[in-house]
Amino acid sequence: MVVDDAVVTLRRDFSEADRVLELLTFRHGKVSVFAARAKSSRKRFGGGLELGSWLKVWLRPKASALWRLEKVELVDGFLQLRQSLEATAKGMYALELCREICQEGEPMGAIFPLLMRLMKRLQQAPHAVGPLMKFELTLLGYAGWPPQLHFCERCKTDVLGQSAMFFLPEGVVCMGCSKQVEERPVLSKEALETLHILQGKASKVSGEKLLGQRPSEAQILEMRLFLDEFWFFHLGKKLKARVFMDEMVAG
Ligand SMILES: [Zn+2]
Repeated sequence: MVVDDAVVTLRRDFSEADRVLELLTFRHGKVSVFAARAKSSRKRFGGGLELGSWLKVWLRPKASALWRLEKVELVDGFLQLRQSLEATAKGMYALELCREICQEGEPMGAIFPLLMRLMKRLQQAPHAVGPLMKFELTLLGYAGWPPQLHFCERCKTDVLGQSAMFFLPEGVVCMGCSKQVEERPVLSKEALETLHILQGKASKVSGEKLLGQRPSEAQILEMRLFLDEFWFFHLGKKLKARVFMDEMVAG
C-alpha cells in the first residue's frame, strides 16, 4: 500500500457505483485510480472526491491495471474557493496546467505545494490578479520554460524600465531589435516590470511596493496575453479551463 498526498484532477463514472479518478500525487506524479463503490462508501471516501480537493490517499499499485484507491482523508476541500466562480475558474485552470506538466511516475516535487498554496490564496482573494500569474510564471520555470524578462534576447541590453516586444519562447526583445524579428505584441514597461516582480526576480522591497496596488486593466490584459502566448507555444493548444476562465473572470 502506498500513502501519498494528492489532488483530484479528473473524475468519471465507471459504473453505477464505481468511479475512475485521475490524481496528481506528490510522490508518484499523475496516477489513474479505480475507486470501487466511490459513490456509496462515505466511510472510505467521505465525500472527498471533488475536483481540486487536497487528499491524503491510500493506493494499491497494480502492474497491469488502474491503481486502486482504498481510502482517502480530506486535507482541504477548499470549500470557500468553490463559492466564487472566479476563484473556481482560476483554480481549475491551475489544475489543468499542472496536469499538462506532470507525468506518470514522476514526482510533482515543488509543484504540489505551489498548487495548494495557490488554492488557499484564491480562497482569500478571488479577484486578485497576482497569485495566478505568479503561479504560472513559477510553473513555467519548473517546466524548464521560464520567460526571460530582464534582457533583450537579441542585443542583451537591460529592458526593465522600457517597453519590450514578446519573443517566443525565450522572453522579450527591446524595441530597437523588434524591427529585426517577426512582429509580436508589445508589453508596456509597467506590465513588463510587474511580470518581472511576479516571477520573483525583482528585489523584495520594489515587489511589495508594486504589488500593493492593482495593475490597470490594460496592464492585466497585456500580462494575460503574454502568459497565454507562452503556454500556447509550449503546450500547443489553448486549455479548456482557460476558455472557461475567460467566461467567468472579468479582468
Ligand atoms: Zn535588443
